[in-house]
Amino acid sequence: MDGSKILTTTNRTKLKTLPKRGDYSTGTIYKILDDAFVCHIGFASEGQTFVLPVAYGRGGNKIYFHGGKGSRLFKTIRTGVEICITVTVIDGLVLAKSAFHHSVNYRSVVIFGKTEELQTAGEKINGLKIIMEHLLPGRWDDTRTPSEKELNATMVLSVNLDEASSKIRTGPPVEEEQDTMLNLWSGVIPIKMKPGKPIPAPGLNEGINVPGYIIDYIKRVETF
Ligand SMILES: Cc1cc2nc3c(=O)[nH]c(=O)nc-3n(C[C@H](O)[C@H](O)[C@H](O)COP(=O)(O)OP(=O)(O)OC[C@H]3O[C@@H](n4cnc5c(N)ncnc54)[C@H](O)[C@@H]3O)c2cc1C
Repeated sequence: MDGSKILTTTNRTKLKTLPKRGDYSTGTIYKILDDAFVCHIGFASEGQTFVLPVAYGRGGNKIYFHGGKGSRLFKTIRTGVEICITVTVIDGLVLAKSAFHHSVNYRSVVIFGKTEELQTAGEKINGLKIIMEHLLPGRWDDTRTPSEKELNATMVLSVNLDEASSKIRTGPPVEEEQDTMLNLWSGVIPIKMKPGKPIPAPGLNEGINVPGYIIDYIKRVETF
């Protein structure tokens, strides 16, 4: 992939289990991140490990997320503690003849690092725009800009994608030689997340049609 580079592995990112499924190219890592929009952030607070889901956006070699200033998650991770972020895309259920070899086709990313807090109003607006445009391209220009009060209540954080790994499983189930003769169905059920028909919010002004960028998004996601 153009401009892609291979990330140096570290003690934390080197795959030990099934390393052949690993891929450290930024092209692959970015693509997986671009195909999802929810990550899980693992962090420790007062002796307890938490793993919480949040929406994110990728912009260049960083991911961005935002949250309320009262959130324990955001209050903790803004302090520069080490965090671990995971992103998962499910591509299929892998059904083998044996219970043992059942699996999932997936593409996942694990990221290690510390957050950086976006400080100025301009930086925060830019981070929020990246998150929104990642969720739905075209949406930012079709929304009201955050007010000063809203911006003050919001923390926007980023993490560099310098220490990351991806792991990918594709293809049919693994079968044991002695199982191949069994009269049992095996194979893969592909799974895709698809958008449904947009539902207008109650009380929407008359004459406001579903915008073109939403129709484009639905078509694009339906056909990928
Ligand atoms: C949807 C899904 C379902 C899975 N189901 C199972 C299951 O049921 N049982 C099971 O044993 N495993 C499952 N896995 C794989 C699991 O994520 C681990 O890779 C695996 O259990 C090996 O763990 P480990 O501690 O030995 O990893 P190690 O190989 O020791 O991990 C070392 C480093 O490799 C990288 N790494 C490891 N796993 C991943 C990953 N998935 N994505 C990106 N980087 C990674 C990380 O940087 C990690 O710190 C699943 C993965 C996905 C995405």
